[in-house]
Amino acid sequence: MIENVQELKEAYPLMKEMEAGKEVIWMNPGLSDLKTAMEGVTLSMDDIDDAENRWARFAPFIRKMFPETEAAGGLIESPLRRIDRMKDCLNRKWGAGLEGSLMLKMDSNLAVAGSVKARGGIYEILKHSEDLALEHGMITVDDDYEKFALPQFREFFGKHSIHVGSTGNLGLSIGIISAALGYDVTVHMSMDAKQWKKDLLRQKGVRVMEYASDYSEAVKNGRKLAEEDPMSYFVDDENSVNLFLGYSVAAKRLKVQLADAGVAVDEEHPLFVHIPCGVGGAPGGVAFGLKQVFGDSVYCFFQEPVQAPCMLLGVMTGLHNDICVQDIGLSGLTAADGLAVGRPSKFVGKTVARMLAGEFTIEDDNLYRFMGDLMDEEGIFIEPSSCASFAGPARLCSSPEGRAFLEHFDLDRNMGNATHIAWATGGNLVPEEVRRQYYGKSRELGLENAAKSC
Ligand SMILES: *Cc1c(COP(=O)(O)O)cnc(C)c1O
Repeated sequence: MIENVQELKEAYPLMKEMEAGKEVIWMNPGLSDLKTAMEGVTLSMDDIDDAENRWARFAPFIRKMFPETEAAGGLIESPLRRIDRMKDCLNRKWGAGLEGSLMLKMDSNLAVAGSVKARGGIYEILKHSEDLALEHGMITVDDDYEKFALPQFREFFGKHSIHVGSTGNLGLSIGIISAALGYDVTVHMSMDAKQWKKDLLRQKGVRVMEYASDYSEAVKNGRKLAEEDPMSYFVDDENSVNLFLGYSVAAKRLKVQLADAGVAVDEEHPLFVHIPCGVGGAPGGVAFGLKQVFGDSVYCFFQEPVQAPCMLLGVMTGLHNDICVQDIGLSGLTAADGLAVGRPSKFVGKTVARMLAGEFTIEDDNLYRFMGDLMDEEGIFIEPSSCASFAGPARLCSSPEGRAFLEHFDLDRNMGNATHIAWATGGNLVPEEVRRQYYGKSRELGLENAAKSC
C-alpha cells in the first residue's frame, strides 16, 4: 500500500477521474523518438529475430500436433481485415470522426489458444522445452523439431512440471501447449476466470487450481509451488522476457500483412494501433515490436478497464509495480477477465515508458456495446476484453486530448492517409451459449446508447 496517494493526486489530476471510475484519456508526455526511447532498453530487433527463428524451428511440431495450422505450415498467425462498416458505425453512432481506414487484427482467431496469449504463452513453453532438450543433448537446433512429438520426448517432459497463474487466457495457452508436449501442468486461476475456460483446460488434462482471490494471489501460489519442486518451471507473466518476445514477433508478421494489403506506413501515412492491456506483456511486446519495425510512424495506445487501469497508473506515476489500482480505491473487477489486473509489470512499464503514445480506459458497458456493434456490422465475435481495442478508435480523433495530440505531432494533416488497427485479442474459443449471452446483453445496452446519442 502506498502512503502518499494524496500527493500523487495533486501531481496527477487525472487520478481523480480514474478514482471516480470514469473513462479517461491519457496522452504520454514521455513519448519520445525511437532512438531516445531505446536508451537503457537492453532488448533489440536481434531478440525479435531470434524469437521468430525459434517459432520457425518449431513449426513442424506445431503442424503435427495442431492440424488446424496445416495450411499455414505450422505458423500460428491471424488475419488482418479491413472493417469499413465498423468504421462507419463508430463515426455514426460514437461520433468518432475517423478518417483513413480501420482494420481488425484478429488474434481472436489465433490457432490453438484463440487469443493473443497464443503468441507469448506458447512461445515461452517452446523456448523452455528447447532449452531443456538442448541441455540434455536430445536435439540440436538444426534438427527437425517434429521430434518433439516423439514418445521419448513426451516421457522426458512428463517428468517436468509447469505452473502458471492466470485470469484465463494465459492459462489456456500454457495449459494446451504444455499438455501437448507431455508436461505435468498446473494452472492457478483467479476468481475472474470464466468457468468454460476451466472446464476446457480440465478436459485437456490440465490441473486447474481455483482461488477465491485476484490474479496476484493466484500468481503468488503458483510461484510458491513451483519453487518447492526442482523439476518445475514457473511462467512469470509479470517479468518474463520470453513471453514479451513471443508477442513481439507479431510486428514482423503485421509488416508483411500490411504490405500485402497495399497499406503504406511512413511519415505521411501514420499507423495507430490500439491494444487491450492487462499486466502489460501482450500489448507491451506487440508495441515494442511495432516500434522496432515501423519506428516513429507507428503510435501505440493501450486500453484498460476503468476499474483496472494498472499500466496507466504505473507508467504515468513512474511507480510501476509499486502502485496498484486498489491504492486509489478501485476494485480491479471487470467483465474484461483478460484485463482484470491490479498491478502492472514493472519490466514492461519501464521498457515501453517512452514508446507508448497513450492510454484510453473503458467502462464495461461500452465493451459490450462495441461487441454488439462489431457483430452487427461485420459478423465478427470477439470477447469482452478484446472490445477495449475500440475505445481508442472511437475517441482519438474526436476528443480534445486526442486532437491536441494529433496537432502536437503534426499528424492532423495526414489523418486521411492514416490506418487505425484495433487489436482483437481473444474470442475464438468462447462457447456458443456464452456468446449468445454476451450478445444479448450488448443489445440491451445498445438501445440505451442509441437513445442517448439521438
Ligand atoms: C491477456 C489478455 C490481454 C492483455 O495481455 P496482458 O499481457 O495481460 O497485458 C488482452 N486481451 C485478452 C483477451 C487477453 O487474454
